[in-house]
Amino acid sequence: MIRTKRQGLLIVVSGPSGSGKNTICDQVLSENKKLWESVSMTTRKRRRNEEEGKDYFFVSKEEFEAMIAEDGFLEYAVFAQHYYGTPKKKVQEKLDQGIDVLLIIEIQGALKIKELYDKAIFIFILPPSMETLKKRLLDRATESEEVILERFSNAYQEINEMPKYNYVIVNDRVAKAANKLQAIITSERCRVDRIEEVYLNNPEEKIHESLLSEKEFTNEQINLD
Ligand code: 5GP
Repeated sequence: MIRTKRQGLLIVVSGPSGSGKNTICDQVLSENKKLWESVSMTTRKRRRNEEEGKDYFFVSKEEFEAMIAEDGFLEYAVFAQHYYGTPKKKVQEKLDQGIDVLLIIEIQGALKIKELYDKAIFIFILPPSMETLKKRLLDRATESEEVILERFSNAYQEINEMPKYNYVIVNDRVAKAANKLQAIITSERCRVDRIEEVYLNNPEEKIHESLLSEKEFTNEQINLD
C-alpha cells in the first residue's frame, strides 16, 4: 500500500444569510465523516432551534473580547452588530492531524483566512435570485424585521466579493448543491501539490528522504482516499 502525509484541507464556505450554506454543509457533513466542522463563538442570542456547543458557543461581549485579547481566534468579525469568531486551537490541531476542516463564515473572516492560509479553499454559495433570498430570510422568521433588512442589504456587498473565492455554487436545490460541494472537496483531496510525503509500505522502498524512521510516520499517516 502507498501512503501519503498531508495537512488537512481548510475549506471556507461563505454566502449571504439565507443562501442555505448551513443546510448544504450539514448534508455534506452527514455523509462525509472525514470532515470536521469548527464551532464558532458568537455574542448573538441563541435562536430557538440552536444548541450551545453544536451551532455556536454563545458568549457575552466581555467573554468574546477576553478571547480576542488572548489571541484565541484564527479570525473574527462583526456581522449584524455581533461578534463571530473561529477558535484557533482546535482548527490548528485538526489540520496538523491531516483532518479536513470546514469553516462556515462570513466574508470579512474568510478574507483574513486567505491572508493566513494560502492553501485554503474558498467556496461561495449563491441563492438562485435575490427574491428567493429575501423570501428565505422572511420565512425563517428568527429575527426582527430590522435585522432581516440589515442581513439582506449585507448580501449585496457580500456577493460583490464573490470573485475573491475559488468556487461558486448556486443553491437552487440542496441535494444538487451538496453534491457540488462534495465534488470540490473530493477533487481538492486528490491534488498532488498538497501531498507532503509519500512512502511505500516496505521501508526499503522509501521514496522521500524526510521519512527517516517508521515511528515518525505511524502517528501521522493518512490514507490517500
Ligand atoms: P448567523 O447569525 O446567521 O448564524 O451568522 C451570521 C453570519 O456569520 C453568517 O454568514 C455566518 O456564516 C457567519 N459566521 C458564523 N461563524 C463565524 C465565525 O466564526 N467567523 C466569521 N467571520 N463569521 C462567522
